Amino acid sequence: MSAAIRVLLIEDSPDDVTLMQRQLKREGLEIEYRVETTEEGLRRAIEDFRPQVMLSDFTIPGFSGAEALRLAATIAPSVPFIFVSGTIGEEVAVQCLQSGATDYVLKGNLRRLGSAVRRALREAAERVVARTADETRHRLAQILEATTDLVATKDAKRRLTFLNEAGCRLIGITREEAIGRQAEDLYTSAARRLVREIAVPAADKDGAWEGESALLTQDGVEIPVSQVIVAHRGADGATQFYSTIARDIRERKAHEAQIVHMANTDALTGLPNRLLLGDRVAQAIVHSRRSRRPLAMLSIDLDRFKLVNEGFGHAVGDEVLREIGALLRATVRDGDTVARLGADEFVVLLADLAHAGDTYSVARKLLDAMSRPRRVAGKELRVTASIGAALFPDDGDGFELLLRNAGAAVHRVKAQGGGSFQYYASGMTEEALERIALERGLQVALEQNALTLHFQPLYDLRTRRPTGVETLLRWFGKDGKAVSPARFIPVAEETGLIRPIGEWVLARACRTVLEWKTRGGSPPRVGVNVSPRQLRDGTFPGIVKRVLDETGFPASRLELEITESALMESGDAAVRTMAELKALEVTIAIDDFGTGYSSLSYLSRMPIDRLKVDLAFVHRMTKERQDAAIVQAVVSLGHALGLQVVAEGVETEEQLALLAKMDCDEVQGYLLARPASGEQVRSLFDEESTT
Ligand code: C2E
Ligand code: MG
Ligand code: MG
Repeated sequence: MSAAIRVLLIEDSPDDVTLMQRQLKREGLEIEYRVETTEEGLRRAIEDFRPQVMLSDFTIPGFSGAEALRLAATIAPSVPFIFVSGTIGEEVAVQCLQSGATDYVLKGNLRRLGSAVRRALREAAERVVARTADETRHRLAQILEATTDLVATKDAKRRLTFLNEAGCRLIGITREEAIGRQAEDLYTSAARRLVREIAVPAADKDGAWEGESALLTQDGVEIPVSQVIVAHRGADGATQFYSTIARDIRERKAHEAQIVHMANTDALTGLPNRLLLGDRVAQAIVHSRRSRRPLAMLSIDLDRFKLVNEGFGHAVGDEVLREIGALLRATVRDGDTVARLGADEFVVLLADLAHAGDTYSVARKLLDAMSRPRRVAGKELRVTASIGAALFPDDGDGFELLLRNAGAAVHRVKAQGGGSFQYYASGMTEEALERIALERGLQVALEQNALTLHFQPLYDLRTRRPTGVETLLRWFGKDGKAVSPARFIPVAEETGLIRPIGEWVLARACRTVLEWKTRGGSPPRVGVNVSPRQLRDGTFPGIVKRVLDETGFPASRLELEITESALMESGDAAVRTMAELKALEVTIAIDDFGTGYSSLSYLSRMPIDRLKVDLAFVHRMTKERQDAAIVQAVVSLGHALGLQVVAEGVETEEQLALLAKMDCDEVQGYLLARPASGEQVRSLFDEESTT
């Protein structure tokens, strides 16, 4: 049972109080009441009795019903106030109701009192509920308007019924335009399909869907959002309306995209890096398996790029790399991938080739494009490159293997001077690995003084007396085995180690031979081999001069051996360098003569003293008429140009005899003496009087 209703009676007549109390009881209302007749009493009662309803007479001595109503309406506006009075005019009654009375009941017709009180109480209760709901709604609306996320509701037919301020701003639409619109109009076409086919059905089934979609602003801008769609169901389980919250994730998306981009590209050129290349290769392999079309991986390495960096600075080097990257990109098809893996190392992935043989023409095109002279930062530069190719499936069935094998092919191209193209062939990798080991070993050998010099005497063919020695570099590995200079000199050249090594050989040879005083008092002639790279290096004559000064070795006793091919390769720079060397008064021999294609007129303009006939001709000349003719021609022409001629690699008496008949000047070879240590060779000269 509900508790008794608290009724406040503003009534001066005790009889009327009794009548009212009885009437209410009769009508089944259980009440607790209090009677007040003054303003002061009314104020207190409202405070501590907290009436649920007030019944007031209209005329009370010293206090009026109108005054009571005014006070009640001010301090307890939600408590119903009913006049219970004798006849008051119609007009007054209307006035009372207008100024806030809930009802009025005539004392002469008290039978209405119970129902009037009941109705007043019910309406008061309803008002409280309505007010609370209103307040809640108002507060929620405030929250929805304050949030920066889009909040919307749509009816079962998915027409917008609400869109908050942030949503209006995001879409660029007014609320009036929004309400009633089909919600799907606000999505991009892809998102529309997602919402219709996946999100809404999922919300209908599970109550809510959460995921990413994209909105479309009035200006056609796409806005990626993370979104929740909630289906609100009625008692019958059918969706009555939907609500959604969507958050703009443009910034996050851009950030994510940037991270992906950064992880996948080379910062300098903007080309894909190794990671992305790996991905593309994997994809291309899948495709190639299906289409049965070959796939080629071209590994591209710029030749002597270190020299660009050293000579022009890294800023120019970077610019060159950027240009080369762009050039490669522009030269191949859109479907091909151009990546940069390291310093001056690029890779081009040729996908979907019609024939494996097409690789060659693409490589040629790339080589041609790259070798065109270019101006960078006001400087004229010519960059050449080496390209090696590995094909799928023949040369490897995965990214790493293809890359390694293409790299081995590049290595081979480099070993042959660069500037060209080669396919991978099995066995190359081993060679490349061995080469890397060699590079490292050589570096260590230089640091740990594991290099030594051997000397091989040269003899005057007519007197059979020794005239001098050739210095030959020896490298004994940890296992005590000698590594042939024919193998390690090219490596030293390529890595630049030839500079310190060459200088060391020169100084060491001069110091060693200086001690071998002949009878005439001066040391014998000492030949030192000079590599092409040393010859190209403008500082070489200065180094020679310094070594001569520091060791005190007589310049006229030093002979520099330059191979014929080095001379041809180095062009004009070599001519200048030779002139500078000659000015130091050293002598110059052309080594391995006959293997290159130097013209005699070219040679005649060179400050040369001696020709050393390549040992291959010497070896074959006793068997091949043609080789004998070549040697004879070299001797005759050499003499005609005023040059001395030396035959290298003399191994038999027969060769020696033939050379004597040809009037060759000097000989060198195993028949007469093998290269040996300085200690072993010096005694030969003890008794000699050199001229
Ligand atoms: P090269 O200057 O033509 O040296 C002559 C090579 O012939 C030497 O080989 C020598 O040992 C070899 N030889 C001498 N007599 C005979 C013979 O009767 N029969 C045969 N089959 N060979 C003979 P090595 O010492 O192996 O040197 C090979 C090449 O390495 C040299 O050819 C030279 O180009 C280069 N080299 C050696 N030392 C140096 C060096 O200190 N600096 C530079 N830049 N190159 C060097
Ligand atoms: Mg030599
Ligand atoms: Mg030689």
